[in-house]
Amino acid sequence: MNSFPKVLQIDNNASWQQLLSHTINDPQQLIDLLELPQDFLQGAINGAREFALKVPQPYLSKIKKGDINDPLLRQVLPINTETEQVSGYITDPLAEMDANHHDGLIHKYTGRVLIIMTGACAINCRYCFRRHFPYQENRLGPEQWQQVLDYLKSDPSISEVILSGGDPLATSDERLEKMITDLERIPHLKRLRIHTRLPVVIPQRITPNFVSILQRSRFDNVMVLHANHPNEIDHQTSELVTQLKTANVTVLNQSVLLKGVNDSVETLQYLSEKLFHSGILPYYLFTLDPVKGAHHFNISDEHAIEIFSKLQALLPGYLLPKLAREIPDRPSKTLLHK
Ligand code: SF4
Repeated sequence: MNSFPKVLQIDNNASWQQLLSHTINDPQQLIDLLELPQDFLQGAINGAREFALKVPQPYLSKIKKGDINDPLLRQVLPINTETEQVSGYITDPLAEMDANHHDGLIHKYTGRVLIIMTGACAINCRYCFRRHFPYQENRLGPEQWQQVLDYLKSDPSISEVILSGGDPLATSDERLEKMITDLERIPHLKRLRIHTRLPVVIPQRITPNFVSILQRSRFDNVMVLHANHPNEIDHQTSELVTQLKTANVTVLNQSVLLKGVNDSVETLQYLSEKLFHSGILPYYLFTLDPVKGAHHFNISDEHAIEIFSKLQALLPGYLLPKLAREIPDRPSKTLLHK
């Protein structure tokens, strides 16, 4: 008899909170639901030991059953290769601990500061550069939040706050609203940027209440979504972007160039076109950060530039994301293509 927790029926009534708390976390359950060969079970169990499996059901429903090469499946299925030690692949590839000035705060670049609002995500992406991030040591309780606010107040050069994580939208509207209100009291802050994958993997997250919180904010609001493949975008994406635009939110997308997922000119062209059709502008196409456990997604810079050059010849400039890599200690992202 099946001992897994019951899979929540996805219907129009399922709230984002229900979907967030009913993610698929068990390798056997994922394999059974997607009708994948049982040979992949042990690899999935091994790969999930260091970084757990987590897939929300709306995302699961976009994966083709029985297809081990599905580009969305490859982003979430743990495999044995993740357990291999590979030289150069480390736990903190962007040296974020050096910029972690206070719990929950990372200050890397002039003028903007990143806040780790939560360690929670709706999905665990196998290539995530923060898959080893010490979220437990970066909890933003009331005391730590006050320290972050004091830090922001003391530096008038900071004009933009980036809410990140984990996924900042994994937190409640009430908490988000309180934090945004606190930030609004700091006069030199002008922009609020939210980096999130949640609207892509659980579109129900963009509720009228959340939109109205942004609408009431005095900030210029930017939301940077994270979609890597055109199959992640559908009619719900267009609908949520339409709602965000009623609150004057600028919606952008960043992707990671991943071997076996989106490393083809056709896929990236279609992704840009589909994003734009949904009201989203392509922003960045990052090469893989060398994080331990993700080496199998890597594409050499030379190959990345070759793909990008072909993409450039096919798309108008406004549909072309910037091909970039983040290199620790540099004052900005490093563009790989001129
Ligand atoms: S949603 Fe973002 S932070 Fe969370 S695992 Fe995926 S890439 Fe990492």
